[in-house]
Amino acid sequence: MKPILYICREMPEEMVAPLREFYEVDMWPSTSEAVPREVLLEKVATATALWVVISDRIDQEVLDAAPELKIIVNMAVGYNHILVEEARARGIIVTNTPDVLTETTADLAFALLMATARDMMGAEKAMRAGKWTSWEPLGFTGVDVYGSTLGIIGMGRIGEAVMRRAKAFNMNVLYHNRRRKPGVEDMHGCRYATLETLLSNSDFVLVLVPFSEETKGIIGAEEIGMMKETAILVNVSRGGIVDETALFKALQSHTIRAAGLDVFEIEPLPMDSPLLTLPNITVLPHIGSATIKTRLAMISLNQKALLAFAKGEEPNHQVMK
Ligand code: NAP
Repeated sequence: MKPILYICREMPEEMVAPLREFYEVDMWPSTSEAVPREVLLEKVATATALWVVISDRIDQEVLDAAPELKIIVNMAVGYNHILVEEARARGIIVTNTPDVLTETTADLAFALLMATARDMMGAEKAMRAGKWTSWEPLGFTGVDVYGSTLGIIGMGRIGEAVMRRAKAFNMNVLYHNRRRKPGVEDMHGCRYATLETLLSNSDFVLVLVPFSEETKGIIGAEEIGMMKETAILVNVSRGGIVDETALFKALQSHTIRAAGLDVFEIEPLPMDSPLLTLPNITVLPHIGSATIKTRLAMISLNQKALLAFAKGEEPNHQVMK
């Protein structure tokens, strides 16, 4: 009897096929709809391996329902949707997909920063609606990116990749981490700052810390209040790090100029979210890593981790090993 692998989202058959030699593969048959909770709970009951995406919440209930589970492979670098410590306590390996998505996500972060600075979405929508009626001296004006100050909260893999882009735009870069990175400071000329200094001195604040109990809500009303009135907040990390209610109030009252969000507290963002009523916000449907090459590279890492596990080898990218 082969061990059972349950795949929570339809993956390309050429990636799944090599796994069939080692696993009895069962797969939720949709690329676009998440596996319903009751189906997940039923399927994990007999699964040895589980392949998840960020919309699959792997909590106590799921782990309790999965007595045979030995490995969870996760198609993301962030793993806050998985109760990793509990999984580890039960001897379950959890893997993720760092590195392969770093440059792609940095591209998106910088693109979102620029799109928000120049309100490209607003200008595009206005043009399609026939509102481009003449050249106006101060029509469709935004703020400069080139030469401004960028504050990166979470100077990790993606943070550093964004910083390199920012340097090509002659930006001053401040960053905040729990630990300083003197080597990065020396090589790129960025400067470490406390959170308060970063917030009050940056024209753009970019959030790139992982979601954790420590980072949940770290950008709330008080922190947004420290930002410049002209500043722009960009979050490409995870919803919940920025307090959406506080952000809504700040954007509505023009405490800050604008925000660019790729991630939200609830995803997909409900269509009745107050955020969608604001003109000074640019929203994207969590597409940081969404290029064909990168998504296939993420799938490939997960597939290799599953193959290694089946062969008794060390799976790649184990979280908190
Ligand atoms: P990473 O290399 O682990 O970098 C995270 C950085 O955050 C580290 O430098 C870490 O430094 C810092 N950090 C962690 N906790 C902190 C805290 N409490 N206060 C201040 N700094 C803290 O991770 P990455 O690969 O760059 O990815 C970052 C995040 O981006 C992921 O966790 C994921 O949530 C998100 N992401 C989103 C997308 C998307 O599609 N939008 C795609 C990929 C990744 P210290 O340990 O020194 O504090």
